[in-house]
Amino acid sequence: MIEKKYAEDEMLSLSGIQHFHFCKRQWALIHIERQWEENLQTTEGRFLHERVDNPFLKESRGDVVMSRAFPLVSDQLGLYGVADVVEYIRSENGISLPGYEGFWKMNPVEYKRGKPKIDERDEVQLCAQAMCLEEMFNVNINSADFYYNEIRRRIQLNISEELRALVISLSDEMHYLFKKGLTPPAEKSRNCKYCSLVDVCVPKLTKKSVSARSYVSKHFNDACTGDP
Ligand code: SF4
Repeated sequence: MIEKKYAEDEMLSLSGIQHFHFCKRQWALIHIERQWEENLQTTEGRFLHERVDNPFLKESRGDVVMSRAFPLVSDQLGLYGVADVVEYIRSENGISLPGYEGFWKMNPVEYKRGKPKIDERDEVQLCAQAMCLEEMFNVNINSADFYYNEIRRRIQLNISEELRALVISLSDEMHYLFKKGLTPPAEKSRNCKYCSLVDVCVPKLTKKSVSARSYVSKHFNDACTGDP
């Protein structure tokens, strides 16, 4: 049996990994300082509403069983969350499904507003979902799907080894910062233009001479090497 990497009280929100990839400071403001909690919940409520209205979610086919709002957890990533949709697709290489004949493979599907992003923030979130399912059901998941409402079609994500390694490294760093209660200083970037927390963060005023990247990696490396 594999030893748990994180205890129950150390679990972090899986959806935070997309904030963390977008900006570590933004993630810390939301998930450590909880400065914007009410606003976040309001935003999530709006997303939920849009999902209910989405025709994609009414889709049903004989060889596909869909499960919505699927709870996820991973002791190895220390993350918990909810998948929008998990599809079970009939496949000889799949697992059995209570109440259904045959074998089925799991395919997580994440509904997103807008269109595919230029960075990997959506990818790390969906990959983390797939990794949770793999751990929970002892299965292999090589791909997953996004559905973007602006382009109204699916985009398949290849769950590569590189992407998995990125998810593990982001998750480790999130746990380190959360445990220490560290909010990285602002690092002004093009993302600030699209950041909903720009008024809370005030990147021009909070930017330190040392960049957030070196700040975080210094503390992270210190922790790994045991330096004070
Ligand atoms: S304003 Fe910029 S630095 Fe501040 S949290 Fe947003 S993206 Fe990060």
